[in-house]
Amino acid sequence: MIEEEIVEYYRLLYLRGQTTLLSGNISARLGDLVVITPTSAPKPLLRPSDLVYIDLDGRVVKGERAPSSEWRMHVAIYRRRPDVAAVVHTHAVLPTVLAERIEADLLLESESYLGGGIAVVPPIKPGTWELAEAVAEALAKSNVAIMKKHGVVAVGPSLAEAVNRAEVVNDLALATLARIWLGGGP
Ligand SMILES: [Zn+2]
Repeated sequence: MIEEEIVEYYRLLYLRGQTTLLSGNISARLGDLVVITPTSAPKPLLRPSDLVYIDLDGRVVKGERAPSSEWRMHVAIYRRRPDVAAVVHTHAVLPTVLAERIEADLLLESESYLGGGIAVVPPIKPGTWELAEAVAEALAKSNVAIMKKHGVVAVGPSLAEAVNRAEVVNDLALATLARIWLGGGP
């Protein structure tokens, strides 16, 4: 079940240091609905029953909790990209800080997994339609966007691919940092 996958993948992302206890969010498309993590909850402790179902206008159709404060970003992406089945947002520090300095050609995995470049979105207030539209626009031609001073958004035709893309961007940021420390080199 996708609900169990969301909860499990979130735990893995947290354990890998990709996000803090309360930050980040994950959603998946279920027909005309979106199932999304709730706001203000310790994410690695979530259970499938904590998830919230919203429509593409953000109306809650099922669930006890309020949806993630970034629900606008998720629905804006799904509206713009019919091919996207899952959206993952982390607060991974390294890619966020490095942003446009990330060298995507340092690892061959970026070519096989990202399916496009890494878009960079300027700092915009979280939770707003302005941010949602800017990210959706950035993701029109990319599968990964870095929101400066905020975090990473990765999308995919499955949750596994979206999570993997978030991890690849983190790996690229690590590789870039190593390159900077080493002062270039092969
Ligand atoms: Zn965030």
